Amino acid sequence: MRLVALAALGALAACQMITATAEPPASPADKEAAILETANTLAAAGSWDNTGLQFVEDLTTEIGPRLAGSPDEKRARDWAVAKLTEMGFANVHVEDFTVPYWKRTHETARVVGASAQPLIITALGGSAPTPAGGLEADVVRFELMADLQAADDAAVAGKIVFIDEFMTRTQTGAGYGLAVAKRAACPKVAAAKGAVACLIRSVGTDHFRRPHTGGIDRRGPDGVAKPMGPIPAAALSAPDADQLARLLARGPVSVNLDIGVETAEAAPSGNVIAEIEGTTRKDEIVLLGCHLDSWDLGTGAIDDGAGCGIVVGAAKLIDGLPEQPERTIRVVLYGSEEIGLFGGDAYARQHADELDKHVLAAESDHGASYIWQFQTKFGDGALDYAKKIQGVLARYGVAAGDNLSGGGPDIGVLARSGVPVVTPAQDGWDYFDYHHTPDDTFDKIEPDAFRQNVSVYAAFAYIAAESGWDFRKPADLAE
Ligand SMILES: [Zn+2]
Repeated sequence: MRLVALAALGALAACQMITATAEPPASPADKEAAILETANTLAAAGSWDNTGLQFVEDLTTEIGPRLAGSPDEKRARDWAVAKLTEMGFANVHVEDFTVPYWKRTHETARVVGASAQPLIITALGGSAPTPAGGLEADVVRFELMADLQAADDAAVAGKIVFIDEFMTRTQTGAGYGLAVAKRAACPKVAAAKGAVACLIRSVGTDHFRRPHTGGIDRRGPDGVAKPMGPIPAAALSAPDADQLARLLARGPVSVNLDIGVETAEAAPSGNVIAEIEGTTRKDEIVLLGCHLDSWDLGTGAIDDGAGCGIVVGAAKLIDGLPEQPERTIRVVLYGSEEIGLFGGDAYARQHADELDKHVLAAESDHGASYIWQFQTKFGDGALDYAKKIQGVLARYGVAAGDNLSGGGPDIGVLARSGVPVVTPAQDGWDYFDYHHTPDDTFDKIEPDAFRQNVSVYAAFAYIAAESGWDFRKPADLAE
C-alpha cells in the first residue's frame, strides 16, 4: 500500500510539473517537444495506475459473461454507462442495434458401440440444434478444411464431418486467421454435401480437456446473418480430437451428438460510448475501441474485458491532466463483436457522416499481454508522425512496426473506409490457450503487462489528440 501511495505522489508531482510547463509554447517545435514529454509522463503514470485493471475486475466479477444479444450483455451496457459516468467521462450513452440471438441450452457427445465413451465438446455459436435425444451417425475425418471442400458428396452425405485441422501457435495470432476458417465454414460446406453435423478440433493452442467455442458463418444465401446455421456444429477439446482420430484409425466410429439451443431473430445489443471532449478541435475524433460482449463459457476477461479496461484506463489517465487535449477522445465499447462484428458495422453506419473527422482509431482485442510492436496505417506523408510516436513507445519495450495495420475487428470497417489506424500489437503467444474457453477469467491477466498496455494507449492517444497531426497526409505533402 505504501508503495502505491508513494507512486501516486509521484504521479501528482509529474502532473504538477506538466502544469508548470504548460505555458503557451514559443514555437511548433517547442509545442511538439512538450506533447511528447507529456505523453512520456502519462506512460510512466500508467505503469502504476490500476484504474483500468479495476475496471476489468469489476466488469468480470459483477457482470460475468456477456453473450451477444443476451440480458447479460444488456446488464453490462447499463453497468458500463453507470461506471463511465461515475468516472467523469462526457457524453456517455448507448447506441442501439439488434442482432440475431443464439444461446446454448445443452451439449453432449458420446462415442457409441464397442468403444462407447463420452467426448468433451462445446457447441459453436450459431449451431443448429439436434433432434431431442441427439442424432447418431458415422464420423468421417478430414485432416484439413480444404480436404472437406474437395471431398465427394458421397463420402460425406449422412455423416458427421470431423475437421481435425491444427492451429499454429504464433506471437502475432496469425495462426488464428487460418484455423478459424474451419470453424466458420464447416457447417455450410458440410451441409451442402449432405452431412448431418460438424465436429471440429477446437480453434486453440492448448492441450487441456476443455473445448473452445466461437462463431460460425450464419449468413443465409441473401448474405444476411441468421440466428443459426444449417446443421449442428461443435468443437472437441484437443485431447478429445486426438482420441476421436485414434478411434477412427482403428475402424468406423459412430457418435451421438445432442445439442439444444434457444434463438431469436432480433435481440437488443448496442455500443457504449464515452468521451473526453476536445478543447479546440472538438469535432475531430481519436477513437479507442474494445468489445464489451464475450462468449458465455468464461467471464470474458482476456476477450475482451481487458481491452475495455486498457482503453478506459488510458482515457482516464489523459482525463486527469490539468488541461484536456485539443481533439476529442472517444472510447467505444462495441457490442456483439463475437457473433459477426455487429457493433463495428453499426458504428460505421451510425457515424457515416463524421468518419472523415476520425483522425485515428485503435482497438484492443488480443488479450492483456505486453505490447511488443506498434504498427500504423497512415498516409505516406504522415510516416514521420509514426516515427515520433514510436520513439516515445520505445521506452516501454515497443518496437516500430510497418505501415500495414488493418486496425482491429470492429475498426476494420473504419480502416477500409480510410480512417488512419494503429495496431499496438500484443504478444499473443498464449492467448489462444484460454480464448473462448471457461478459463478466460480475470486471473489470466498479468497486472504488469496490462499496465504497460495502458501506458502505450495513453501515450499515443494523447499525442494524436493534442498534436493536430494529419495522419491521412499524402506523400506529396510530407514535410
Ligand atoms: Zn475479442
